Amino acid sequence: MKETAMRRITEWKIVFAGVVVFLMVASAIPFYRHRHFRVPVVAGPGVTKVIKLSRYLPNLKGTAADADVFYLEGKEPGGKVLVMAGTHPNEPAGLLASLIMIENAVVEKGTLIIIPTFNRSGSMDTKPGDGYMLTFRLPTPWGPKTFRMGNRDASPLDVWPDPDVYIHYPDRQLMSYIDARNTNRTWPGRPDGPLMERVTFAAMELMRREKVDVAIDLHGAETMFPVTNCIVAPEKSSRLATRASLYVKAREGFDSHVEPSPVGFRGLSHREIGDYSDTLPFLLEAPIPFLDQPTGPKTEKLLLDGKDPFLLSLAKKKKLFVPYDENGWPIDKRVGQHSSVMLEIISQFSRKSPQRAILIRDVPRYAELVKNGTGYYFHNPARTDKRHLYLI
Ligand SMILES: [Zn+2]
Repeated sequence: MKETAMRRITEWKIVFAGVVVFLMVASAIPFYRHRHFRVPVVAGPGVTKVIKLSRYLPNLKGTAADADVFYLEGKEPGGKVLVMAGTHPNEPAGLLASLIMIENAVVEKGTLIIIPTFNRSGSMDTKPGDGYMLTFRLPTPWGPKTFRMGNRDASPLDVWPDPDVYIHYPDRQLMSYIDARNTNRTWPGRPDGPLMERVTFAAMELMRREKVDVAIDLHGAETMFPVTNCIVAPEKSSRLATRASLYVKAREGFDSHVEPSPVGFRGLSHREIGDYSDTLPFLLEAPIPFLDQPTGPKTEKLLLDGKDPFLLSLAKKKKLFVPYDENGWPIDKRVGQHSSVMLEIISQFSRKSPQRAILIRDVPRYAELVKNGTGYYFHNPARTDKRHLYLI
C-alpha cells in the first residue's frame, strides 16, 4: 500500500516536471524567434554600398552589436551626414524614418550615411515586464510589413554581467548600472571598453575618418518628460537647430523646439560627438505616448496611434509637455516630424556651407507621411531583386 502511494507521488513529480519544462520551452520559443527575426529592407536607388560598423572597429565583428551601415553617395561630392536610428530600439519612429530614407532617397550631392539599428543588440531584445509586444505591423500597399520591437538597452545576452555602477569614460561620472547597456550614455566610447562603448567609439571613428559634417540621432520621448518634441543641440549646433525649428514651424506647421545640450551630463550623443569630433550633432525627440507610465495596456494600437484615455485626462490637467487630444500622437506624425526636421537641418547646413552641401530628393516630408501613411513608402521585398535586399 505504501509503495503504491510512493509510486503515485513519483509519477506526479514527473508529470509536474514535464509541465514545467513544456511551459519553459513554449515561452522561450517566441523570444528565440524574435531575436532571430530579420526585417527585410529594400535598398533604394540612392544606396551605393552597405557595410558593417566593424569596418571602423574590427573587434565588433561577429558580435550582436555589429550594425549595418548604408551609404548613399551622390554623383557630385559635397558634405556628409550621418543618421543614427535605434539608439533606443523601443522608440521605433526613428527606425521607420531612417528606413524610408534608405528605400527612397536619391542623393544628388554629398553623402548620406544611415545606421537604422544603432543599438542592434537592443533591437533583438524586449521588455516583457512592461508588456512590450515582440513585433508590430504597418499596413502597406502590398500587405502588412512586420518590424521588430526592441528594448531601450542592449541585451544581457550580449552584455553581461552589469556593473554595480557604470563609470562613464573618460569623465568618470557615476551613472546607473543599466547605462552600461544604454548607447546614449556610452559616448564617446573606447576601443576596448564594454560592448556599447565600442559601438559608440566605432561611430566616432566613422565620423572622424569620413569627415562627417552633421550627425542626427533619432529618438522618441514620453509626453510627460520635459525633453520631448524637440531638437537637442549643443552650442556649436544651436544656430542650425534654431533655424530648422523655425522653418518647420513656419512652412509645415508643427512644433519642434530647441533644447540646449547640458554640459555637465556626460555620455550623450548630442554632447560627446560635438566635443570629440568636428561633426555637428543633433538629437531629435518625437513624442511617444506608449512609453509614458500612466497609460492603459501597452498594445500595438497604442504604440501606433498614441491614443490613451489616461493621458487625455492628464492633458486636461496640464500634466503633459505636448499638446494632446482625442487624436493621440500617431506614428505617421512622429515619423513625419523626424523626416522633415532631418531634411531641414541638412538643408540649413547646406545653405550655410555651400561647398559642403548635401542635396537629397524623394524623401517624403511631414504632410505627405500624415496623408499617405508610413507604410506607403516601403517597397515589397518579395518583388525585389535579391541583390537589393538586406535583412537587418
Ligand atoms: Zn531615446
